[in-house]
Amino acid sequence: MQRTGFTTTIPLEVLIAAGRKPVDLNNIFITGGRSRQQVEDAELAGFPRNVCGWIKGIYAAIRESGISEMVAVTEGDCSYTKALMEVLSLEGITVIPFAYPHDRDAASLKAEIEKLMRHFAVEWAEVNRAKERLDGIRRKIREIDRLTWQENLVSGGENHYFQVSSSDMNGDPDLFEAEADAFLRVVADRKPRTERIRLAYIGVPPIIADLYPFLESIDARVVFNETQRQFAMPYETVDLIEQYRSYTYPYDIFHRLDDILTETGKRKVDGVIHYVQSFCFRQIEDMIVRKKLSLPILTLEGDKPAPLDERTRIRLEGFVEMLEGRG
Ligand code: SF4
Repeated sequence: MQRTGFTTTIPLEVLIAAGRKPVDLNNIFITGGRSRQQVEDAELAGFPRNVCGWIKGIYAAIRESGISEMVAVTEGDCSYTKALMEVLSLEGITVIPFAYPHDRDAASLKAEIEKLMRHFAVEWAEVNRAKERLDGIRRKIREIDRLTWQENLVSGGENHYFQVSSSDMNGDPDLFEAEADAFLRVVADRKPRTERIRLAYIGVPPIIADLYPFLESIDARVVFNETQRQFAMPYETVDLIEQYRSYTYPYDIFHRLDDILTETGKRKVDGVIHYVQSFCFRQIEDMIVRKKLSLPILTLEGDKPAPLDERTRIRLEGFVEMLEGRG
């Protein structure tokens, strides 16, 4: 089965309808076991030091994987993507652009999806069948999320894993569904977790390895993973265009904030970790997040794939202690 890589969540239904094996390049970079080395490899190949680690990791991961075709999201994701596309197409990789319209216009989004469908030679009937199949799995991931915040049966890291993996269903929807089913069976026998502090994690997924277990070791647990949940398509939508219009990540921060405000309230969150990636333009959004959220916020910056450093651990401990003092 031909593999097709992508740089961020795209309408996965199109790739599944086309019989491609979807590969989220972020996921193979961060879980491949060589992420630190891959960032260094990209720097040796010529990527500047002051470019985001995810971009360097995606570059090295696609080169190492032998994947020869990728969909690159040119609008609604990352300001570095166009340059990354250019470098990769120079190196012989077929790059298919996809854009989320900034204004969330339904007609423009439909035109983009249909352009992708033409490239992969699939029709709406096949795409809608793929949506039905994927929606069945997404409902199970939604249940894992509910069990995290409502029943306290799932750790922040487990919640992160299942939601972030649903961007490409780990390349094999059947296997991924079986993994989710097995996890749901295990969870059914658990006793509720008892961490005192409930946290929201907002921003791009962490490049840091051990954030979730560390937080749990200091009596705090992430009960809302904002972006990862979006990758899992959390809204039950019949229409594919509506599904990718409701998806908040590629649109403006205000659209994301509506979701963050709703979910942090519903999930009774005590504090927010806003993760920002070094050299990412999204760091600027921290100013807006701080103006719009009334909850205590800790802004955490990560650079390269690595465990938490001592300074960051101390900052996290201080933040959790402060939240305990308020409660
Ligand atoms: S963290 Fe920011 S700069 Fe890095 S890939 Fe994601 S959007 Fe781009």
